[in-house]
Amino acid sequence: MAGSGAGPTLRFCPESNDLLYPREDKERRVLVYFCRSCQYQEDADPKDWCVYRNEVQHTSREKTVVLQDVRSDPTLPRTRDVRCPVCTHDEAVFFTSSTEEGMTLYFSCCSCGHRWRDYV
Ligand SMILES: [Zn+2]
Ligand SMILES: [Zn+2]
Repeated sequence: MAGSGAGPTLRFCPESNDLLYPREDKERRVLVYFCRSCQYQEDADPKDWCVYRNEVQHTSREKTVVLQDVRSDPTLPRTRDVRCPVCTHDEAVFFTSSTEEGMTLYFSCCSCGHRWRDYV
């Protein structure tokens, strides 16, 4: 790991120092980071998304993330605000990943494992 350290890969809560998790603000259609320990929340900076994109161009990190079975990853946040288009189950794991179009939100159904994406 010889990174330059400039990337916004991880964010921490200024209140409790916990890792902040990305989530989609459904009303405003923007990406936010939130803390699971307290109520802290902040908007993701669109500039960060661009930095992300540049970093990912020379790594295969996105493919790695997307190919994992994310349902078994306890560190990933879950939501009940979505409905699986395949089995209509109402709980899904979600995570973000960078694509050429920008930051993309992925959902993975907790029941059948179907994965779909939502543009933010
Ligand atoms: Zn906190
Ligand atoms: Zn499903």
